[in-house]
Amino acid sequence: MGFWWLRRLRSPLTRSDAAHQAIFEQWPTGAMVLNTATLQIVAANAVALRSLGYTLEEVRELRFGELFSAEGVDPRALVGKLLDATSRLPVEMRQRCKDGSQRNVEANCHPLTLGEQQLLGMAVHDVTVRRKVETQLLERHQQLDHLAHHDQLTGLPNRLYLAAHLPGDLEEAKKAGSMLAVLFLDLDRFKHINDSRGHETGDKLLKTVAQRVRSTVRTQDVVVRMGGDEFVVILKGVQQTGQVSETAERINQALSAPMVVDGRTLVTTVSIGVALYPHDGLDMGELLRHSDTAMYQAKDRGRNNFQVFSPVMDRRLKERIAIETSLRTALQSQQLDVHYQPIVNIESNCVVALEALLRWKHPSHGYVRPERFMGIAEETGLMVPIGDFVLQRAVEDAVRWRQAGGTLVPIAVNVSAVQLQRSNLAESISRLTRQHGLEPSLLQVELTEGAVFERRDARNPDASQDAVASLRELGVRIAIDDFGVGYSSLSYLKRWRVDALKIDRSFVRDLVTDLSDLAIVSAIIAMARHLHIEVVAEGIEGWQQLEKLRQLGCGFAQGYLIARPAPAQDCAQYLSGKPVDLTQTLRTLEGLEATGSGDQFRVLQA
Ligand code: C2E
Ligand code: MG
Ligand code: MG
Repeated sequence: MGFWWLRRLRSPLTRSDAAHQAIFEQWPTGAMVLNTATLQIVAANAVALRSLGYTLEEVRELRFGELFSAEGVDPRALVGKLLDATSRLPVEMRQRCKDGSQRNVEANCHPLTLGEQQLLGMAVHDVTVRRKVETQLLERHQQLDHLAHHDQLTGLPNRLYLAAHLPGDLEEAKKAGSMLAVLFLDLDRFKHINDSRGHETGDKLLKTVAQRVRSTVRTQDVVVRMGGDEFVVILKGVQQTGQVSETAERINQALSAPMVVDGRTLVTTVSIGVALYPHDGLDMGELLRHSDTAMYQAKDRGRNNFQVFSPVMDRRLKERIAIETSLRTALQSQQLDVHYQPIVNIESNCVVALEALLRWKHPSHGYVRPERFMGIAEETGLMVPIGDFVLQRAVEDAVRWRQAGGTLVPIAVNVSAVQLQRSNLAESISRLTRQHGLEPSLLQVELTEGAVFERRDARNPDASQDAVASLRELGVRIAIDDFGVGYSSLSYLKRWRVDALKIDRSFVRDLVTDLSDLAIVSAIIAMARHLHIEVVAEGIEGWQQLEKLRQLGCGFAQGYLIARPAPAQDCAQYLSGKPVDLTQTLRTLEGLEATGSGDQFRVLQA
């Protein structure tokens, strides 16, 4: 082999030509010279020939296009590209070798002019291994990227994905002049399913939920799992708000159909909050916050529905945060108080018990209803100290009434699930009553069915039953509060040896006019009679209700008609053993209505 082309161009061969030839031959990477007019390789060094598997003579016989190619480019265009890229970026090509194998090569090119000839010098590097490693790295990177941006359980995009893509989606909506909807989904009572059926079942349920939501929306919409039982759906290209409510309704429907998980039928529903770009927010943070607020509103409205964000909701959320903050100081700064409402024998009107009801007198907002802060107290872990406060106060008040000469009746104290399951309630009641010299039988614990059964802890499902058994052993009475609106398996009434049932106010309200309420109340009274359980009707506000309950054989009554909750100092009158004078109450009630005072709560202003 030799520099025949050089020799033909410049003869005789000079000393420096021979030196150049030697350098060319021994160059450690592939080097070739191409005649750009004939598209023929005119020279190739040893490395280049070894890589191709051809001899120089063979190479000379071949056209450039038979040796090198690039996808979608014909040989002439490829040479044009090489000329164009000279001394700048390398050009990547496929090199076809003699044995038929193909290699990825990169060529760095330089134009050479020898006389009339237009030549192209190419330094050719084999990059097959590098490309392979790069492809592997890219694939790995893509896998990692997918992992980082997707939820492992459901395979849905996750919060990170949303953060990476939503700003772009918003930008697109802005350009197109369309709306974009953010739907914030939170499963209703998922924690209950997770706790009672175990995490594995919970996970399977979440997967089914993810599939159902995904199949409810269009391909271009995004369904994201934010974590836990929270999902976000992004609806793109929204032209009319009607589209959004239709989708939200479809999701509600799709999820409320029963799901079979591990052979068991589970029912879950979802609360959805909606925020629209650009009306309810311009950036991701604002849209997520507002859809979350709307979702809470959907929960407050009885779950299994959707709510569209409104600025009023934002005010309510701020109010909630304000409550949370000030509730922490309420305990220490003596803003909490306990009022009492009598429960009377329906025949004699004599007081048989006093129910202790928590009151929070906020320094600037006035009285705040327990419903407004009980949930927050539970979530923030304040329920146990607040419950202890009510118990202690009830025992102290009872002792004071007795010292003042009153005939004590049982004091009913409301106990939440957290208090029943987490604190050693029987032990603290035992200690407290012993300390104050009060018989435990003068205390009644009121439990709601929902609180006891819905919040059952999977790790200790019998916690409530055990706690009730210890209370009974101590002699404390047990009443089921708001009876009829919660759990429906009634066997526990017998097992727990409950003393009293309190028929929920919602059945008493329309008792006189609504036949189904009448049927429910009659059935509860009949059942309780057979089980030797006392029945108290709650929330009696009218004479006709009272009369009806008496006719139905309800034993006990509680409500504004008889007496409103009042501070301890006003309750000694109920311990005189005399019946409550209902005509007197009626006059007071009329007076209260006229003045708008009494056990009325001022609406908490944000
Ligand atoms: P509850 O135990 O069913 O208490 C009865 C509620 O109905 C009280 O509301 C009472 O003021 C109200 N009420 C009584 N008679 C009438 C009536 O004729 N008409 C109407 N419309 N309402 C009447 P309150 O004091 O707002 O308490 C609400 C709920 O908060 C209670 O329902 C109870 O579940 C809970 N709660 C109150 N105090 C405590 C407490 O110390 N600890 C716990 N865990 N929960 C408490
Ligand atoms: Mg109660
Ligand atoms: Mg009640």
